[in-house]
Amino acid sequence: MRALRLFIALGAVLALTAAILVACDEKGDSSVTAAEFGKTPEGEDVSIFTLRNANGMEARIINYGAALVSLTAPDREGNFDDVVLGYDSLAQYLVNKPYFGAIVGRYANRIAQGRFALDGVSYQLAQNNGENHLHGGLKGLTHALWDAAAEVRAEGPALVLTYVSPAGEDNYPGSLSVTVVYLLTNGNELSIDYSATTDSATIVNLTHHSYFNLAGAGSGSILMHELEIRANSFTPVDGGLIPTGEVRPVAGTPMDFRRLSMIAGGISSKEEQMVLGGGYDHNWILDKKESEYALAATLYEGRTGRLMEVYTTEPGIQFYSGNFLDGSEIGKGGVPYRHRYGLCLETQHFPDSPNKANFPSTVLRPGERFQSRTVYRFSVR
Ligand code: BGC
Repeated sequence: MRALRLFIALGAVLALTAAILVACDEKGDSSVTAAEFGKTPEGEDVSIFTLRNANGMEARIINYGAALVSLTAPDREGNFDDVVLGYDSLAQYLVNKPYFGAIVGRYANRIAQGRFALDGVSYQLAQNNGENHLHGGLKGLTHALWDAAAEVRAEGPALVLTYVSPAGEDNYPGSLSVTVVYLLTNGNELSIDYSATTDSATIVNLTHHSYFNLAGAGSGSILMHELEIRANSFTPVDGGLIPTGEVRPVAGTPMDFRRLSMIAGGISSKEEQMVLGGGYDHNWILDKKESEYALAATLYEGRTGRLMEVYTTEPGIQFYSGNFLDGSEIGKGGVPYRHRYGLCLETQHFPDSPNKANFPSTVLRPGERFQSRTVYRFSVR
C-alpha cells in the first residue's frame, strides 16, 4: 500500500494552537505534526513542523527562514539528543544574527563589497558584513516566510517549502522561485533538496546553516569533535574573509582534514589563514566533479559515538568553527552559546564566485533550473 499522503494548506494549520497531525504513514511510524510558533511583526502566523521518522528521530522546522530548530539523533546507547543549536522563540529567529539552522541565500557566503556584474550590468548588494555582502543581505531567505506543505513519502516524512523572491529583493536581479525539501529518511538522514528558477539572469548559491554539536546542543565546545573533509585544496582568504582567488593545497597546513582529525589540533595554529579566520572559516574544494553527488565530510564525537556524514552535489564546503559565538546568544532551554559551541558544514559554491572567473559559475538563467542536494547521515561508531 502506498503511504498515506496528506497535504495541508498552511492556513488550516494556523488556526490551531496545539500540535496537530498533518501527515503520517499507514502504520503511524513516521509523521509530520504542526503547531503555532508565533506571529511576525506584520501579523503573519509562523508554524513549527515536527518530522518524526520510523526510528524516533525528530527534526523540527519553522517556515520562517525555513530554519531547522532542532534535530535529535541517537548515541551509542540509543539515547537521543538534540544536535543543532537554535532558539526557543520566534522573536529570536526574527533577528538570528548567527543564521542558526536557516536556509541562506540568495547568495550564501560572501561577495566582495557586495558588487558583481552580469551581462554587462553592475549590481550593488547590501554590504552587511564589514564592506562585504554576506548570506543574501539584509533580508535574505533567512527572513522570508515560506509556504509549507507536509507529506510522508516512502523514504520518510518531508516538508516542502517554497518562496518566491521578487525581482529586486535585496537588490538581486530576477524573480527567484525557490523550493527546499527537508526529508528525514528512515535511514536516519536529513536530506535537503534545493531547486530554483528565475525569469531573468541572476546569481544563486543556497546552503543550510545549522550549527552542529554531536554531544548535544549547549553541552560545550566542538573542539573535541573529529572531522574529515574530502578535499586536497582550499580557497585562502583576505582579512574580510573574501577568497584571494588562489587554490592552495591543504598538505602541510592546519586545513588538512584528509584524515579524521581532532578540531582542537589545528584550530589554535598561528598560521596566517587561521589568524585571518579567527579559527576555521574557509571554503574547501571537494575532491569530486563539480555537481557529482559524493561524500564531502565526516564529523565524529567520541564520547557519544555519534557520527555525521555530509554528502553533497555542491563543489565546496565551508567549515566554520563557531568563532563568533561569544555567549551572548541564548539558545534553547536558556543556555548561552559560548565560543565554538557549534560548527557549520555549509555545502556551497565558492564565496565571491561572481567576481572570480576561475571558480565554478553561480549564474542562473531563465529556462535553467538550479538543483542541489545535501544529505546529513547519522550513525554511531
Ligand atoms: C560564515 C561566518 C559567519 C557565520 C555567521 C558563516 O557561514 O562563514 O564568517 O560569521 O556564517 O554569519
